Amino acid sequence: MKILIVEDEEKLARFVELELMHEGYETSKAFDGRTGLDLAVSGEFDLVLLDIMLPGINGIEVLRRIRKTSDIPVILLTARDSVMDKVSGLDTGADDYITKPFEIEELLARIRASLRKKSSSPASLSAQLSCGMLKMDTASHIVNYGNDTVELTNKEFKLLQKLLENKSIVLSREVLLEDVWGFDYMGETNIVDVYIRYIRSKIDDIYNVKIIHTVRGVGYVIRE
Ligand code: CA
Repeated sequence: MKILIVEDEEKLARFVELELMHEGYETSKAFDGRTGLDLAVSGEFDLVLLDIMLPGINGIEVLRRIRKTSDIPVILLTARDSVMDKVSGLDTGADDYITKPFEIEELLARIRASLRKKSSSPASLSAQLSCGMLKMDTASHIVNYGNDTVELTNKEFKLLQKLLENKSIVLSREVLLEDVWGFDYMGETNIVDVYIRYIRSKIDDIYNVKIIHTVRGVGYVIRE
């Protein structure tokens, strides 16, 4: 996967580039709008990170011109509080935006989501699971509570997925252990309880809801 970074703050561009390379992406950088546009429509890239405030042509205009010929995923890098930029950016056809300064983990998650959305868009294989305000897209590996994205580790995601696939059905620790950690798991048997606690701390505790219920002596169940 090849990502184009269009950002005139060279330090930031370099930092993002290093992080992306570390994740196994190929990258190129452009420091102005004109160069960014030429590269973005070259067909060489899978995704563009596009700053809005750029010398030459600004990011919104670059995006407008990209969209005349290309549906390449574009994530805008916007300055804090520039609501207008976000609105016109999304209207112009940006796939997503992220506000500077951002956590690199969040940027990486959005890149993965945009790339997955693209690769699965015509014939989507995604399964949408939900429980009330909690929604999970198993293809893009994204969990939302309302409009918020919930960041889960791989194991937390699998555990939550298993519970959502069996909504209102009580699953024993043994079943969860086998399904999520595998038959030959040799570690602590209370690992399920530990991970249930992690998930609760990221969803139940944050949104003040009770989604995962403990059924004493039996196991766990998810229900509205
Ligand atoms: Ca800039």
